[in-house]
Formats: sequence, structure tokens, C-alpha cells
Amino acid sequence: MTMLGVPLWAVAASAVLYLAAAAAAVEVAWHRGLDALTEAGAHRLDLYAASLRSELGRYELLPAIAARQDSIKTLLAAPPDARRALLPAVDDYLQAVNRDAGSVAVDVIDLNGDVIAASNWNQAVSFVGTNVAYRPYFTDSLSAGNGRFFGIGTNTGEPGLYFASAVRDGQKVLGATAVKIRVDPLESAWRVPNEAAMVVDGNGVVVISTVPAWKFTALAPIAPQKQQQIQASRQYAGRKVDNLGYARLGDWRNGAWFARLPDWSHPGRERRYLVMSRSAPQAGDAIMVALDLSTARRQQQLAFAFVTGVFLIAAFYGLYAVQRRRVIVERLKAQDALQRANDRLEATVQQRTAALQQEIDERVLTEHKLRDSQQQLVHAGKLAVLGQMAAGLTHEINQPLVAIRTLCDNARTFFERGQSAQALANLARVGKLVENMALLTAELKAFARKPEASTVPVSLADALAHARLIYDSRIRDESVQLDIDIAPDTLVAAEPGRLQQVIVNLLGNALDALTGREAPRIRMGAKRSDDAARVTFFIADNGPGIDPHVLAHLFEPFVTTKPRGHGLGLGLAITSRIVEGFGARIAAVNLGGGGAQFTIEFVAANGGSIDSE
Ligand code: ADP
Repeated sequence: MTMLGVPLWAVAASAVLYLAAAAAAVEVAWHRGLDALTEAGAHRLDLYAASLRSELGRYELLPAIAARQDSIKTLLAAPPDARRALLPAVDDYLQAVNRDAGSVAVDVIDLNGDVIAASNWNQAVSFVGTNVAYRPYFTDSLSAGNGRFFGIGTNTGEPGLYFASAVRDGQKVLGATAVKIRVDPLESAWRVPNEAAMVVDGNGVVVISTVPAWKFTALAPIAPQKQQQIQASRQYAGRKVDNLGYARLGDWRNGAWFARLPDWSHPGRERRYLVMSRSAPQAGDAIMVALDLSTARRQQQLAFAFVTGVFLIAAFYGLYAVQRRRVIVERLKAQDALQRANDRLEATVQQRTAALQQEIDERVLTEHKLRDSQQQLVHAGKLAVLGQMAAGLTHEINQPLVAIRTLCDNARTFFERGQSAQALANLARVGKLVENMALLTAELKAFARKPEASTVPVSLADALAHARLIYDSRIRDESVQLDIDIAPDTLVAAEPGRLQQVIVNLLGNALDALTGREAPRIRMGAKRSDDAARVTFFIADNGPGIDPHVLAHLFEPFVTTKPRGHGLGLGLAITSRIVEGFGARIAAVNLGGGGAQFTIEFVAANGGSIDSE
């Protein structure tokens, strides 16, 4: 089973590997993200603690210094009705100090908790006349020398930090001085994205917060008794302290923990944050930061995307490699198949070549055999012609012999009678006849001579005259009309004996065809081609023409229409073979007006070459 050419087990293994790698990467990224957050949170807490400390430090000593002011001591020591006169100086002083320090207000409180002088004595909302006896910073300052307190102003309704210090004359406590400072500059300075910072006081109430909605809410539900205390101190201007909705979930490393808190960017929703805290300069207070986990989550997503990307690249590469390998394997297979086909082809070619060679050898052998048999046929043909000639010769020789015998007998009679002149005349005729016979035998000798292999210029007219001699008596007996139109100087490339044999054959066939025909006639002629390179010889008769069945095989051996004992069917086969030997061509046609015509196209031999013979 495969998927895109990859075995299923490999696909499954890759998937498992990918899931494991993705899970590990996500986990590691989460841890690293949280560690980075924790580190950033710790820095942030250090920074906030330092800024809070420096902010508090700036104002901490302010009430103590004011408490040493003689005019204030005098004012507090004076009976109430004597104070009016002393107030302007104190008010001026308080106003100057407040302006210089940049605090909200500086005031003087008598032992009853009444504010008798304040830097804002002349403002619409003045502290003068308010009673702060219930405020812990006041009671603390009287009992312990100084007090500090986050609270909301009962007059102004503005949150602030209150510092107070006892005013003493020797050991006697006369009253207290107090300074109120704003905390909102800190809040705006601490406000950074993806993070909330807050200061939680000893009651577990958020007193400074970069998220305004969280201010004056409690991290944990406040016990009823404590609620009463808070109400009594009007610390939060009599507000009911609501629950923030904070729930500690689980610890992370380096003192950080997860907590559920309201989502500051989506009011009404809750969210999980990483929370860290540091103790604030004032005992019991704590600075806390809530860190948005989205950066850690983003790192997780990045890690996941990275692993997925790497996996996808690896998968694609793997797939590509598998496909490529498959293509290569296929190609190799195809090459192999091609090679095998080639091998087969080569083997077949070799076999065929061998078979062809064998065939060629056989052909060559056959050709040799054929040539041998042709030679034999030429020879046999000559014998056949000789046979025919023998018949002719018998006639040719018998006739003169009979004549000679008669002439001799008559000559003896003439001698006995003393008629020597007649006897001599008879002897002269005998001599003539013998001469003719000698001529005939000379011709036969020439014919029987072994033909030359090479060609020489031969006179066609001469060759024809020799052949004609052989059939002379027959032509005469059968009253065949011979028309010959051959220029005496017509020379052809041939071998004299063989050329005679050719013409004897053709003439013999023509005579055979004319046997018993009316007005037998044979025409012979020769014509030079226009460029004088060839000589075309023809012999035509007015016989019955060539049998159409024979025509196509005319020049093949043993093709004959003649009765047994009259023809072997070798004549034309030998003739064409001889003609080929001259470099000439033989052809036969039936003439339109009846009769057959044979033509031989010889290579012309010029007159000069015959002279050189
Ligand atoms: P053969 O004369 O022994 O039959 P040839 O090879 O000379 O052998 O001739 C083959 C045949 O061609 C003859 O039997 C004859 O039928 C035919 N042939 C040859 N010459 C002529 C011709 N001039 N007219 C008609 N037929 C001919």
C-alpha cells in the first residue's frame, strides 16, 4: 500500500514524527516564552519598586520636616481661639512647601483630628475643617510617630497616598502634619502594552493600577469584620470594595504564577495571565504585574509554523526524491528494456546476416553452377547445331560427291573414247566441286574453333556470309527470299566464331519458321545509332510469329515448340548468353503484319580498330 508512491508505514511514521516534533517545539516555545515573560516581568517589578520607592522617598520626610516647623508647633500649642492670628504664617508656609514639593496638599491636624491649616486653605475644596481622626495615617502618626496610607480623599474623592508625622514639643505630642500625593503619574508611567501593573495594599485592595477599572477592588473577598474596619476608616471614601475576580491557578517558575483576571482589553471577559509580585516599600503592600500570555502564545504559534514548514519542506523534498527515484528506476528499466531489445535486435541481425551470408554463398554457388551449366549448354548447343549442320553437310557433301562420281565416270568414258577435251572439262568441274567442299570444311573448322573470351571488331556482313553458307542449300531448296541490307564496313564488338554461331541460330530458326510457308522471306539489316556507339542488327521473317506462350521465356533453355528430335530449345538460350558476352542485347517481337523479328544491339567497333587487328 502506498500513498503518492510512498509506503503507508513511512507516511504514518512521518506523521508521528511531525506530531511529536510539533508538540515538543510548541512545549519548548511555551516554556521559553514564559521564561522571557518572567524575566521581563521581574525587570518590570524591579523598575516599579524602584520608582515607587523614589516617589515615596521624595515625600516621606516632608511631614516630619514640617512637624519641626516652630510656627506649626506654636499653632498647635495655642488655644483654639488664639490660632486665627497664627494661621496666615502657617498657611503661607504650607502653601510654599506644597508648591515646592509638587504634592496635592500639606496640612496640619490637631489632636482631635481636625485639620486646622492646609496648603489649600484658600481653595474651593479645602481640607481645613475636615476631621481625619478616623484615618489610620493620623492615628498611626500620633501613636508611632508617623503613618502612611493609600486612600481616597473624603473631600476631593481623589485617590492618593497620605503621609503623616507627629508634631512634638519635647515628649508632648501636639498634633500631626500630613502630605497627600497623587499616584496617577505612576499609573501612567507604568502603563505599557500587554501588561498590567498594580499596587495592592495591606487589605488586599488594589490602590494603584494601570487598569483603571481594577482600582479599589479586592484580590480576595474581604472578611465582614475587615469590611467594617475599612468602612470606619473611610479609606476608600466609604465605597464598598468589590471583588476584582482574581483567581490564582497554578505556579510557574521563578515565583511567577498563572492567574485568572478580568481581560483588560475586553471588559466583561476573563483571561489567564502570568502574574508576579514584589513587596512594596510600605509593609504589607505588594506590587504586582499581570503579563499577557499572547507573546508566549505567538512564540508557540511561530514554533508550530516553523516545525510545520520544515516538515512540509522535508515532506515535499522526500516526495520529490521518491518520485525522482521512481522516474530514475523507470528510466533504468526502460534503458534495460531498450538494451535487451537492442541485444535481441543485434542477435536477430547477426542471425539474419549469417542467413543472408549463407544465402549469398548459396547464390554465388548457384551462379557458379549456372555459369558452369551455361558453359556446358553453350557447348551442348554447339553440338546441337553441329547435329543440324551434319544434316546440312550430308546434303552438301553428298550432292558434290554424287556429281564428282558421275563426272569421274563420264571422264573415264571420254578418255576411252579419246574425247580428252570433254574428259578434261569434267575434271575441271570435279576440281571446282572439291574446292567448294574444302571451303565448306574450312567454315566448319572456323565454327568449331573454341571462341575467344574477348571481343574484337568483327564485320557483320562477313559473319552473315559465313552463316548463310551453312544454310545455302536449304535457302535455295525452299526458295526463301533473302533481303540483306548490311553495309560491308559495319563492325561490331564480338568474337567471330561466336557471332557466326548467333547468326546461324537465328537464321536457322527463321528458316524453321518458314518451312511450308507461302512466299517465304527473310530480311536482315543493320543500323548504326546516331552517336555511332551502337549497331542494331535485325532479322525478320514472315513466318507464323513466336508462340505467345513461348515469348516470355524465349531465351530460357529447353523452351521449344518443335517436335522431339528437331529442337532442344537451347538455341536462343545459347545465343542470348553469347550476345551478353559481347556486351550486346538481344530482343524478340512479333511483327504486326505477321512473322517474328529478332534484334541485337551490338557495341559498335570503329573501322580503325579492325585495321589494328
Ligand atoms: P529450338 O529451335 O531447338 O526449338 P530455340 O531456342 O532456337 O530452340 O527456339 C525456341 C523456340 O522459339 C522455337 O521452338 C520456336 O517456337 C521459337 N522461335 C524461334 N525463332 C522463331 C521464329 N523466327 N519464328 C517463330 N518462332 C520462333
